[in-house]
Amino acid sequence: MKYNIAIDGPAGAGKSTIAKKVAEKLGFVYIDTGAMYRAMAYYYTGKGINCEDKDAVIAEFDNIHLGLKYIDGVQHIFLNGEDISGVIRTQEVGENASRVSAIAEVRAKLVAIQQDIARNINVVMDGRDIGSVVLPDAELKIYLTASVRVRALRRFKEYQEKGIEADLATIEKEIKDRDYRDMHRDASPLVCVPDAVVVDTSDMTVDEVMDRIISLVEQDTDE
Ligand code: C5P
Repeated sequence: MKYNIAIDGPAGAGKSTIAKKVAEKLGFVYIDTGAMYRAMAYYYTGKGINCEDKDAVIAEFDNIHLGLKYIDGVQHIFLNGEDISGVIRTQEVGENASRVSAIAEVRAKLVAIQQDIARNINVVMDGRDIGSVVLPDAELKIYLTASVRVRALRRFKEYQEKGIEADLATIEKEIKDRDYRDMHRDASPLVCVPDAVVVDTSDMTVDEVMDRIISLVEQDTDE
């Protein structure tokens, strides 16, 4: 049976944590599409190219080869053969990913890769445009959200745990800015599609969110 789950939502709503766990539970493959935009941003930043400079960004396409590999069930992303999964997790790369992702040509390049992966296997894919553009026919669409305050606090704790210095007010402002950019860009903005189930995780534990999604899958597949 073919079953794809699309999870969209703003930064810090818990998409990757939830998507990973749902995939594990169902034996599906988790695809983190944000990592692909981050990988592009990482490349351009390393080259000193402004992620908003459309012509310069497009001119590099032939020099960028992205690869995905699953090692012990975990997605690893490779840029020109180098595993960059760890180094793309910074706030700076996230910001630049948000900038580079506003370029329609970048989106077209990555969406094609994402659609290719989901064609023959069951996936849980998370991002901003999965239900609207990448997998419009996904069997289940979730819009995962949470208040700005809660999302900022989650990011703050993540940084603290990793020993990265962070300031809550700055994170909150960055989250607001990123939401605005992701929701107001011309190319596939973050939207909640009408057939998505909205799950507000502000007052939910990870297990509660998981249970909610799994029960939606069960309802769907029992029918
Ligand atoms: O989810 P993550 O924070 O890793 O995504 C980084 C940025 O990549 C987002 O802020 C968003 O601008 C962009 N993105 C996107 N479409 C996706 C996934 C991520 O535009 N499907």
